Amino acid sequence: MHELSITSAILKTVLRHARRQRAARVHRILLVVSELSDLQPVWMQHYFDRVSRGSIAERARLEIEHQAPQFACNDCSAGFAVSLRTVDRVVCPHCGSGSCTLTRRADYIVEEIEVS
Ligand SMILES: [Zn+2]
Repeated sequence: MHELSITSAILKTVLRHARRQRAARVHRILLVVSELSDLQPVWMQHYFDRVSRGSIAERARLEIEHQAPQFACNDCSAGFAVSLRTVDRVVCPHCGSGSCTLTRRADYIVEEIEVS
């Protein structure tokens, strides 16, 4: 269960930040998830509800934002992001080269947490 281990890791990160801010309650968590990951938002919330039970993050809402993958051009070394949902071939927007490498591989990032 992919989502279960990931939501546990997210909870750990969130609780660590919440503790540092001396928060009493976590309300909202903004996650930036790579468009290339197969994480399902519905399951993420489901598992998060389960792993966060009894903690100050119980009932926090997960907000998921998809991020286009980042590429680096092998010819001019420009970096750029492009959504693979909108193109079928990745081309450098600076020099037009079709030789590009995927650079950012993180599946998800805890971008923001809202606490009180
Ligand atoms: Zn280029």
